[in-house]
Parts: sequence; C-alpha cells; structure tokens
Amino acid sequence: MSRVSAVRFSHFLPSLLLLLAGLSAAYVKDLNVFFTSLFNVLPTLVLLLGGSYCAVYRRQRELFLMITVYVAYFLLDTQTDYYRDNGRVREDAAVVFHLCCLLLPLLFSIYALWQEKTHLFRDFVARCAVLLAVGSVALALEQSYPQALLNWLAEIRWPALHGSWMSLIQLSYPMFLIGFVTLAAQYWYQPRPLHAAQLVGVMGLFWMLPQTFILPFTLNIMCSQVMLMIAAGVAHEAYQMAFRDELTGLPGRRALNERMQRLGRNYVLAMTDVDHFKRFNDTHGHDVGDQVLRLVASKLSKVNGGGRAYRYGGEEFAVVFAGKTLDECMPHLEEIREIVANYDIKLRNSDRPQDDQQGRQRRAGSGASSVSVTVSIGVAERQMEQRTPEEVLKSADQALYAAKGAGRNCVIAAGQNRRGAVRTQSAAG
Ligand code: GH3
Ligand code: MG
Ligand code: MG
Repeated sequence: MSRVSAVRFSHFLPSLLLLLAGLSAAYVKDLNVFFTSLFNVLPTLVLLLGGSYCAVYRRQRELFLMITVYVAYFLLDTQTDYYRDNGRVREDAAVVFHLCCLLLPLLFSIYALWQEKTHLFRDFVARCAVLLAVGSVALALEQSYPQALLNWLAEIRWPALHGSWMSLIQLSYPMFLIGFVTLAAQYWYQPRPLHAAQLVGVMGLFWMLPQTFILPFTLNIMCSQVMLMIAAGVAHEAYQMAFRDELTGLPGRRALNERMQRLGRNYVLAMTDVDHFKRFNDTHGHDVGDQVLRLVASKLSKVNGGGRAYRYGGEEFAVVFAGKTLDECMPHLEEIREIVANYDIKLRNSDRPQDDQQGRQRRAGSGASSVSVTVSIGVAERQMEQRTPEEVLKSADQALYAAKGAGRNCVIAAGQNRRGAVRTQSAAG
C-alpha cells in the first residue's frame, strides 16, 4: 500500500472536530454559570477519565502526553485565576508563562515521538524521570535566578526573524515548528489516528498559548480538547484493532459479522479464496504470501457495483453487495477475478535495494521475477428459503467449493451451477 493511500482524512476528523469545537467555545462571550463551572472542572475530569482509560490500555505515551498538557494547564491556570481575581498578573507570571511556552511544545513532542518499545515498567520510570528532571531543573532555576531566567527566555536572539505578530517568546516558535515538522513526518511514515491527533493537538496548543490571558477559559477549553484528542486517538485505534485486519487493511471478520446483521432484504454475498495458496507459500515463502494477500485485498477493495470486501480469515475474503441482485453482481466479480489473474506480481526480494528508484530499475530489468495467482469465487443471493445472512454465506461457501471443483479461477453462483468464466490460467506461477 502506498503512503499516500494510507494517509486518511478520517484519522484527522475527530481531532479537527474537537479543535473546531474548542476554538468556537473559546470565542463565546458571556458564558453562563453552567459553562464556567463546567470549564473549571473539565481539564481535571478529562485527565482522570482519559488518563485511566490510557492506563487500562497500557498506553503510556498517551498518558504522559495528557499529563504534560495537564501540568501546563495547572501552572497557567493558577496565573489566570490570579489575574481574573486581582486584575493584575502575579509577579512570577512572566517567567512561568515563558517557561510553559518553551517546555510544553518540547515535552509534548518528546513524548509524542517516544515510542513504547522497552519493558512497560522501565518505560514508565523513564518517562517519569524525564518529566521530573525537566520540571525540577525549571523550578530550581525559577526559584534561584528568576530575573536571569526571565531575561534568557525573553531575549530576542534572531532580530531579523522577529515579527511584530509574535506574542510568545522567540524560542517558542522554533520549538513548535520542530515539533510540528517531526510529528508530521511521524504521521507520514506511520499514518495512525493517534499520530494525527498529536499533530492537530500541537496546533491547538500553539493557538492556545497567546490567548491564555486574553480569552477567558481558552486554557481550560483547549487543554481539555487536546487531551480528548489523545483519548479519541486511542479509542479510534482500539476500534481499528478490533474491526480492521492488520495485514491487508480491509475490515475483518468482526466487521463482516456486524455488517451482516444490517443487510436488509436483498443482498448478495461472495466468498473468494486464493487458489493453491498453500503451494504458493511453500514455493515463495510466507512473506511473499503476505504480499500476495495484500495485493488480492487491494484489488477486492476496488470491486465495482457497490461491493465491500472483508478479510474473512486466512486467504479467504468475503464481498458484500447490499441491495443488489445476483445478475447485477456477477459481472463485477468476474471482472475482479480477471484482474487478479492477469496481474503480474513483481516479487520484492529480500536483497531488494533500499532506494526506490534503484528498485524500479532492477524490476524493469531482467533480474526481477514475477508470479501470478488466481482466485475462485462462490456467490449466493438471499432467497426465500435462505433468510439469514449466515445461511446465504454458507451457500456462497458451497458455491466456492463448486468453483474449486470446476478447476478454480472462476466464479460460480449457488444453486444455479452458473459459471461466470472459463479457467484461463493455472494458479501459482
Ligand atoms: P485451494 O486452491 O483449494 O484453496 O488450496 P489452498 O492451498 O489455497 O488451500 P488451503 O486452505 O489448504 O491453504 C490455505 C493456506 O493459506 C494455508 C496457509 O499457509 C495460508 N495462509 C493462511 N493465512 C495466511 C496469511 O496470513 N499469510 C500467508 N502468507 N499465508 C496464509
Ligand atoms: Mg482456504
Ligand atoms: Mg485457497
């Protein structure tokens, strides 16, 4: 699967909605007591619920992202409360605010990029150690040399790059920029909902900081939204794990079972099975077998006529056509069978070059080997005597057996002994 096709708008959608909701809420003037009370408790509530949710799923990276955001919220909230109550800022407001502008993007990016690889407990200790080390150094400097620290933070190091629009310390901008670029790169190389949430989250924090003392409750709202983005990312990934097949990216068996409960009166189910796949695996190895499964899945996912493909298990795939008749579906299944059979799969050898261009050249040359596979398809339509989707699926499975018996690489419909195609090619090449 190419990277561009793996990048999905749906990965960003929950976070973008939360960001938009946060922006709109922050601009609302004259909030009533209900909302002001809600916004006062929201960050703590979100941390407790989201944090325990992450802890139960052992998602420490996300837990620490939330803690980082919450610590920044807590420090700044103390300042904004004082400002709201007294009409002036506390004497340490500038240094605390500037430190947050520097350390929040830094720690957020570090935790976002820090993958959970080692032993869980050691990972937890290491993350705590980083938070404590950074926090205690900042606190010690702030207590011992407040003025020197303030001067160092507020210094304009690159006058040529300083814009009048910059309302944060100059150091904060490269921090956010580096964070944003590295998180964007992380999403590009590993397009996951959580990585999308981190990217949108860093944008939310970047927007929030300059508004902290200007728009009331911006801090409470945006910190809650960013923590919610992280929690929503974890939930989204948990959903994907349950319903999506990791190897092929197709929805899996569980998703098929759910879909089958909502099929209505007319539908067609097709069972697809790769021919002689065991032999193929034995000849070319399991890795190449996996490549082939991905390829078959990608072809099936593009089936026309409103069909939706699912990985049923192993080398078997189900295709669901809701609201269709057998005659409407047969040409599309036949088309898919033909596409798979005619597709030359270029083998990616283990000595494959790292460089894509070199690889293309080598594949174009005589050195690359190619293979092909075929699929057999059994199809069944919902009939009066087969009322439940399970019964229809069983018929499709029987038709698949018939297709295997008829020589493979063909489409056969249940009960009608209808054969969609003549076998054109033997299976594994
Ligand atoms: P037929 O044409 O009758 O379907 O023959 P077949 O060899 O395809 O049938 P069989 O069901 O005996 O073999 C299925 C093989 O699929 C067995 C297993 O090695 C392989 N397989 C199942 N799941 C995977 C997978 O995720 N990856 C790979 N590489 N192979 C798999
Ligand atoms: Mg099989
Ligand atoms: Mg098979």
